[in-house]
Amino acid sequence: MKFLLTKELGRLVKWLRILGFDTEYFKQDNTSSLIIEALRSGRIIITRNHRLPRSGGIQITVIEAERIKEQVAEVLKALKIKPDSDMMFTRCILCNEKLKEIEKEKVKDKVPEYVFKTQEDFITCPKCKRIYWQGTHWGDVTKTLKEIKWNS
Ligand SMILES: [Zn+2]
Repeated sequence: MKFLLTKELGRLVKWLRILGFDTEYFKQDNTSSLIIEALRSGRIIITRNHRLPRSGGIQITVIEAERIKEQVAEVLKALKIKPDSDMMFTRCILCNEKLKEIEKEKVKDKVPEYVFKTQEDFITCPKCKRIYWQGTHWGDVTKTLKEIKWNS
């Protein structure tokens, strides 16, 4: 399942990437380009815009919630998705690229010293080169996810 989100849903883009979903962010106002892009890439459009044309072959999910946690819950419910912990934290939240493992030695000068001392496993984005590690960047994410009721 791949998604294309419209520009008012920037925070939700990050969240869907955290959950491991291939999520592109469409920042233009041009509705026809949005539809063409969704068709071309086989993505489900997620938007807050009620007025998108319902043309053939396009799947559109309209989000009503304004708060981010409720938006995440709404997407999961509407698309009947169960988050998979093996999928989480596998994508760069900035670029949507799949993250790759990187040897600890190689991140020595790229992360804060205390992180290097306390963490063993690091992953990196092949595109933007950002380094991720368990705990710090994603510390609040796991907590927030627990607050969202998946099965409601
Ligand atoms: Zn990246």
